[in-house]
Amino acid sequence: MREYSNADSSDPVRAVHSVSRVSLRAILLSGLGTVVRFGKVFTGYEVSASGAVTATFDDGSTATGDVLVGADGVRSVVRRQLLPAAGYADPRAIGIGGKLALTPETEAWLPVQLTSSKNMILPRRDFLFTSVFRRRDPSDTTDSDYVMWAYVAHRSALPADLQGHVLARLGGWHPDLRRLVGESDPSSIQSFDFTAGQRVSGWESRPVTLLGDAIHPMPPVGGLGGNAALFDARTLCAALTAVQSGERSLVEAVRGYESAMRAHGFGAAAEAQRYTKLAASRSRVLRRTARGFFRFCGLVPPVRRAIFE
Ligand SMILES: Cc1cc2nc3c(=O)[nH]c(=O)nc-3n(C[C@H](O)[C@H](O)[C@H](O)COP(=O)(O)OP(=O)(O)OC[C@H]3O[C@@H](n4cnc5c(N)ncnc54)[C@H](O)[C@@H]3O)c2cc1C
Repeated sequence: MREYSNADSSDPVRAVHSVSRVSLRAILLSGLGTVVRFGKVFTGYEVSASGAVTATFDDGSTATGDVLVGADGVRSVVRRQLLPAAGYADPRAIGIGGKLALTPETEAWLPVQLTSSKNMILPRRDFLFTSVFRRRDPSDTTDSDYVMWAYVAHRSALPADLQGHVLARLGGWHPDLRRLVGESDPSSIQSFDFTAGQRVSGWESRPVTLLGDAIHPMPPVGGLGGNAALFDARTLCAALTAVQSGERSLVEAVRGYESAMRAHGFGAAAEAQRYTKLAASRSRVLRRTARGFFRFCGLVPPVRRAIFE
């Protein structure tokens, strides 16, 4: 596994690792051969009297199985059919992110803080997060080294020129931070969806379930969404394995999975919404308190570990 590490722990299990999406996707697909089929758009499902689930796709084709797992992301079509009353919350924030390639030229002027660790910058208004990704194996040509940045602010409107908008907002900031944004490849700059799912307390379990952003979408502040989806996948895998070995019935296993998934996923979503509120907040008192808190965490490693790991 190609892995990028900016951790300060020597224990690889306890350390925090940043993993490239390209690599993670390749790892998750490895060994699946033709089991995964691309290019189909799911439109709806039906559960028969015997409990079999049939999924329908927009090309008119269907697929029938014992269980349907809706892992179709933020605007999940499976969620819409399974839980039609479940709504979305609008955190009223915008997020814009981009990447600056790490080359001998950019490394010459980038300050070491930006090329060696994660940073949260929380001045009087707005918020900037930076993180660094370095290949463990520099000869690997399927990805590259870069500094990623994400800017979050209260949303009044989504600007057309994302890079120009962030640069204008960083007017009085340190020149290196402005340069980080200004010299980022414009094709790497995009806005993020800040949709958050409303907590759903429980529902009658059936052979149709949900996983990841499809059930607990959250703003991408705090880096929790993908981790929560992986937690769900692991928990559901264990539950379905117990069905396969005859230890549990399907609906019982799905019920157990959904209970653990709701507690973990909606907990992470609530945390991400707290970070978003703070990042987009215009309250001086709230921001000053948060700065003091993060500074304290930075100065006291055991507190930092307890809070962030
Ligand atoms: C800018 C940004 C940065 C992030 N950084 C982090 C981070 O550092 N750490 C972290 O843990 N998380 C992070 N996240 C969140 C993370 O990307 C998501 O939480 C994660 O991808 C959710 O995985 P998922 O499988 O549930 O959904 P997705 O990854 O959204 O996958 C859903 C899939 O379903 C497909 N699909 C949708 N509808 C249909 C349909 N009708 N028919 C067929 N297919 C369909 C989509 O094409 C997609 O391939 C970030 C998100 C963003 C936007």
